[in-house]
Amino acid sequence: MPDAPSTDFYAAFVKSGPGSFLASRLGLPQPPSLRRYQPGKPALAGPVLLGGSGRLVEPVRELLADYDLVVNNGGARGAEKLGGAVFDATGITSIDDLKGLYEFFGPQIRSLGNSARIVVLGTTPELIEDIDEHIVQRALEGFTRSVAKELRDGATAQLVYVHPKASTGASGLASTLRFLLSGKSAYVDAQVIRITDKDAEAPADWDKPLAGKVALVTGAARGIGATIAEVLSRDGAHVIAADIPAAGEALSEVANKVGGTALPLDVTAPDAGAKIAELVKSRHSGLDIVVNNAGITRDKLLANMDEGKWNSVMAVNLKAPKQLVDDLLAAGALNEGGSVVDVSSIAGIAGNRGQTNYGATKAGVIGIVDAYTSVLAEKNITINAVAPGFIETAMTAAIPLATRQAGRLMNSLQQGGQTVDVAETISYFAAPASAAVTGNVVRVCGQSLLGA
Ligand code: NAD
Repeated sequence: MPDAPSTDFYAAFVKSGPGSFLASRLGLPQPPSLRRYQPGKPALAGPVLLGGSGRLVEPVRELLADYDLVVNNGGARGAEKLGGAVFDATGITSIDDLKGLYEFFGPQIRSLGNSARIVVLGTTPELIEDIDEHIVQRALEGFTRSVAKELRDGATAQLVYVHPKASTGASGLASTLRFLLSGKSAYVDAQVIRITDKDAEAPADWDKPLAGKVALVTGAARGIGATIAEVLSRDGAHVIAADIPAAGEALSEVANKVGGTALPLDVTAPDAGAKIAELVKSRHSGLDIVVNNAGITRDKLLANMDEGKWNSVMAVNLKAPKQLVDDLLAAGALNEGGSVVDVSSIAGIAGNRGQTNYGATKAGVIGIVDAYTSVLAEKNITINAVAPGFIETAMTAAIPLATRQAGRLMNSLQQGGQTVDVAETISYFAAPASAAVTGNVVRVCGQSLLGA
């Protein structure tokens, strides 16, 4: 993966001998090293403790048969640090039952190792008829988000809500657990993911979950888009890397590096969808994955914003992602079983001064996910969005130093994310094994304080 263009000198300094000494004496934040995914290496640094007594504990034990699992023993093995702890909370139906969380996690918190993962499994509250159960399943969110703020050393906590009618094998849950219980989710923290009752097939190889798939990535010449192209290709997809014609050489380099196809294309052009449809129908048997990543900012306080800044941001960030999907569907170029992944932003959740245009488009992207979930489900196509927080790119390198440093530190992991963190989340959404994952927005922001 490419190195981040912007170096966090503060993090590098506090990791050095003298820097670390000074930081602890002065009580300064010391960003932990995050363990990231490496093919062939163990998913986590230690064993996973599996507990709880709901409908999922047994299926999960089977789904994670190749993990080093410690089941319901209530204590870590000796002095060994845990790589993760998964708690099946679907059996919690009353307020008193919530104490099970306290009893399971309380004694384990200090046993969690570097970049350990906590995953709480619940039942989707909106789909529960019983009033008490609905309330306590909703309570899991506050528990998970709070415990995430208490974790140290790169550890994270997430909540996964599983449809009450998911089959007893819960196969739709497998890809989500493998994403969360690995370095692929290094910068995803305190998120809630909902799983439908669809079954999903495991790939032949979990290291190649996109084998045989054709993926389009817009805005692929640099930044997050270039890394998305690399990760989707690493995971087995043929990548069509699209960017504006002016991106020229940079786009060809990305396409060559991933053995994919370079497609010079302005996503706002009226014939953009038709061009892609023509390419994928003539050279491939259609398109399986669409990643709407191209995006621009044209910041200005609303009172000073000219119409051009408003219009251009709307055109690239909101009109194009919708139009592209409409046109590909109309042309029959988007395959059954495929997936659409859009790139939102925490600015679309929390709002940002000087970004009324950008914030509107990035919230609109979440609207696209909401509105298209059921429409696309009819064709067995999923749609989800990632909402990145502070990611180390050329865009964030341009932010003035003090603001940049504040942006990096204002999250539970006390650092900016890498482009690969966004790309891994996109690949997880895009995989056929994630057929049961649709209609979600996952923030890749290290549990940013902004928009929490
Ligand atoms: P970037 O500016 O480095 O890259 C964006 C790419 O999109 C560029 O290569 C650009 O040429 C391309 N592009 C712009 N207009 C296009 C058009 N009309 N047609 C085709 N391609 C076009 O930005 P980035 O930081 O890599 O951001 C990628 C996405 O992530 C954007 O949607 C952005 O809004 C979102 N995002 C980024 C961050 C961050 O911290 N960097 C945070 C939240 C969201």
